[in-house]
Amino acid sequence: MKPVTDIFPLLDQPRQVVITTHQKPDPDAMGSSLGLAHFLRSLGHQVTVISPTNWAAFLNWMPGSQDVIDFELKKSEAEAALAKAEWLFCLDFNTLPRTKHLAPLLQQLQCVKILIDHHQQPETTAFTYGISDVSKSSTSEMIYDLIAGSGHADRISLPIAECLYAGIIGDTGSFRYPSASAHVHAIVARLKETGLNHTKVHENIYDNFLENRLRFIGMVLLHRMEIMYEYNTALISISKNDLLRFDIKTGDTEGLVNFPLSIQGIKMAAIVIDRDEERKWSFRSKGDFDTNTFARKYFEGGGHYNASGGRSQDPLEKTVAKFKQAIKENASLLQ
Ligand code: 5GP
Ligand code: MN
Repeated sequence: MKPVTDIFPLLDQPRQVVITTHQKPDPDAMGSSLGLAHFLRSLGHQVTVISPTNWAAFLNWMPGSQDVIDFELKKSEAEAALAKAEWLFCLDFNTLPRTKHLAPLLQQLQCVKILIDHHQQPETTAFTYGISDVSKSSTSEMIYDLIAGSGHADRISLPIAECLYAGIIGDTGSFRYPSASAHVHAIVARLKETGLNHTKVHENIYDNFLENRLRFIGMVLLHRMEIMYEYNTALISISKNDLLRFDIKTGDTEGLVNFPLSIQGIKMAAIVIDRDEERKWSFRSKGDFDTNTFARKYFEGGGHYNASGGRSQDPLEKTVAKFKQAIKENASLLQ
């Protein structure tokens, strides 16, 4: 993989571009993709953004989100865009399986592939150019750096600022995680100069749910959360029936895994959700428990040191039992 800076001299020549990101895109995945799309369009490129799956409704305020192609809904439109793509940007993921059913298509695509990502252990051989930097708070921060680094800081418009700001607050927990560096705050100061209303962005993402979601959270914290004080670990397990009963949609469960970390002494929190095709795990930790290694070892996953995810094909009860066994094996790291 050649450095991403090698594409800077090529940016002025308009191309057919596709931008894609990981399945079930979160604010950083969607924000970085749309921020980059607006920037490249301002330079005259033809840009299509493809999401491997659907996304949370709380992202639909983002400028440009209405034109994003959901691969599972509009396969032929996505295939047509990929067929003519000269450049493919892959944002906020670093292994193709993170794009679910889109992965085989991306794999065989012959065009120039560019990776921009901040997760651990990238598959760099799959990309022509790129940057993989785990010290970055978010892919949105990296898109800001790409725009400014290529000499186009003056092209950072209000729509770009709104998209990148959303990604930054999503991945820094609104500036509370250690990744919220001085550089991140300096970027935000620059984004504010475009007229960015940051309060509005927070409201759009965090105050944009329906009553059922809050009732669901109440039920989950009361009945579906198990605290294993012996291992400083909390586990939330959610069945398909729970999702149906509360009419839970994509995005409604985001952030739930963080709740148990507010309990004194809890070092590791996990949530498993019984989705149709798999049991989806999310892991979060505080301090020196490495959830990336844990997710890789036991649940075919990965991510960051303190935030990662994984999956299992086992039924819910079996995957929960496996988690408990894994926690026992890691007892010494959880003290
Ligand atoms: P979340 O728990 O919010 O879905 O994901 C937490 C972090 O782990 C995100 O940065 C996400 O990209 C990453 N992640 C989530 N699930 C997986 C997975 O199955 N595989 C890998 N490699 N990373 C994941
Ligand atoms: Mn991210």
